[in-house]
Amino acid sequence: MRLIAMEAARHDWAGMRCGCGGFAGHLAGDLTAVAAAGPGPEPDVGLEGHVWSPVTLWEPAPAVVSVALAALADDVAPVVREWFLRQLQYLVTGEGTDPSSARRGIDLPERCRDLAVQGLWLLYAEVMSNRSVGAVGSAFEIITVLEPDRARLERVREIAADWLPVCCRTGLCDDR
Ligand SMILES: [Zn+2]
Ligand SMILES: [Zn+2]
Repeated sequence: MRLIAMEAARHDWAGMRCGCGGFAGHLAGDLTAVAAAGPGPEPDVGLEGHVWSPVTLWEPAPAVVSVALAALADDVAPVVREWFLRQLQYLVTGEGTDPSSARRGIDLPERCRDLAVQGLWLLYAEVMSNRSVGAVGSAFEIITVLEPDRARLERVREIAADWLPVCCRTGLCDDR
């Protein structure tokens, strides 16, 4: 979890407005608590209403994308990897920007996708690793949102067909 902790420590969480109405200082502790989770049950931490909701992203969203990419590169328990992949998926499929960020001309969904695309090969590595069907499915669905080279996406879909979830293999979940 050293990369996660390093990346989490680089951001000024306390200076960001959180979706819960306060400042986002609590997110630093939330993210490192998830990172420290062992091979047990899913970490009981949720970012909904703080960083993302089905219609809005809040100011800390790009920083959480960076921490999620660090998690993919890190040596962590499978539940931790899957948790961060799911957060990344919510962030790259975000549709709106909170009003105070929007007033400053920030497009949070676009910013999150621009950051996440830097981790494209980490996501492909996750798909090819076939470590767990949950992680493979989330990683592939994130790639379908981010990948500008559709021919590459289709080639990996063929190569990984034996272990991709049905929705990813058939393309049902593409481009949501
Ligand atoms: Zn909050
Ligand atoms: Zn799918």
